[in-house]
Amino acid sequence: MGKYDDVIAFVKKLHNTEDFIPLHAPKFIGNEKKYVSECIDSTFVSSVGAFVDKFEKQVAEFTGSKYAIATVNGTAALHISLILSGVSKGDEVITQPLTFIATCNAINYIGAHPVFVDVDKKSLGLSVEKLEGFLRRNAEVRNNECFNKSTNRRIKAVVPMHTFGFSADIDGLVAVCEKYNIPLVEDAAESLGSYYKDRHTGTFGCLGAFSFNGNKIITTGGGGMIVTDDEILAKKAKHITTTAKISHPWEYDHDMVGYNYRMPNINAALGCAQMEVLPEFLKSKKQLADEYKSFFKNKSIQFLQGSQDSVPNHWLNAVVLNSLEERNKFLQETNDQGVMTRPIWKLMSRVKMFQNAQKTNLENSEWLESRVVNIPSSVV
Ligand SMILES: *Cc1c(COP(=O)(O)O)cnc(C)c1O
Repeated sequence: MGKYDDVIAFVKKLHNTEDFIPLHAPKFIGNEKKYVSECIDSTFVSSVGAFVDKFEKQVAEFTGSKYAIATVNGTAALHISLILSGVSKGDEVITQPLTFIATCNAINYIGAHPVFVDVDKKSLGLSVEKLEGFLRRNAEVRNNECFNKSTNRRIKAVVPMHTFGFSADIDGLVAVCEKYNIPLVEDAAESLGSYYKDRHTGTFGCLGAFSFNGNKIITTGGGGMIVTDDEILAKKAKHITTTAKISHPWEYDHDMVGYNYRMPNINAALGCAQMEVLPEFLKSKKQLADEYKSFFKNKSIQFLQGSQDSVPNHWLNAVVLNSLEERNKFLQETNDQGVMTRPIWKLMSRVKMFQNAQKTNLENSEWLESRVVNIPSSVV
């Protein structure tokens, strides 16, 4: 008899199987094969093609953004978003320590320095109070630019992340960023289909980045998307992700060092089909989350639900165990029984490359780090 037999039995019943249950498996229930096959027949499988344009339109429409620019992956979308928000070498970017490594990698690619501000325990996103406190103590606006007095570097962006599809308290973050004149870029990689109040995540900042990696709510194999309402930024995003080539019927010329970050048409074909079934996925995921919610209601394990104004996509369900010991026992028992579970990430402030970064008190992030575990969340 294990301590978590009831949880394991419940997850197996929900997924209607005794076989191994992954954390999150992709689902292809729509026109995926049809569109990919059309794409192959057309021979336009690479960086030019109708599916890329169509996929961009679908995502723009779905999120309520004016513009969407498809990229090879979410990390590339973040990298370009940071460049376009004005981050350059030697600048600082404030983000949360409780995130996937890609957020910090994108900052580092530019030669910028991450600064870690604690998360909110309920939203799992950047804490408004902690951000405000950090800036009050350390920031100074000079000539419309925000400087960190302790390092004398520019603070050039704030990057909250909508963890597991729960939205950060984004209204509050927007207000603080406006006060200090810092561009806000949203790492919305996990939050396609998530809203804050009535507005889609990723659309609050000057730029937002989504991911369509195989483990995300919809997938293009690999892929990402930049969204923005700013026409100039959108044009720049398209330009810099397509080698900064100056448009001409045959001549080659480039006006800056660009990137080969454009999403291939064959990936976009998959994306077009996945966007068609996204509403169904969201319904199924909400149902699954509701089942988990009632199951954990009177248990000593807390089921995470995000903050009040968050309308999540329920991408990855998560529970909070009472201690690190219980967390470890839970991970051991569930994985032993073929129910895949994973702890939340090791804090970025403790990862070797970023351990010398400036940081606030990280009590909430540390508390969550030692207790939060993701449980199986595929569309069933
Ligand atoms: C998945 C993810 C990314 C990066 O996306 P890729 O498409 O894998 O490059 C960035 N940030 C977060 C928080 C993610 O979960």
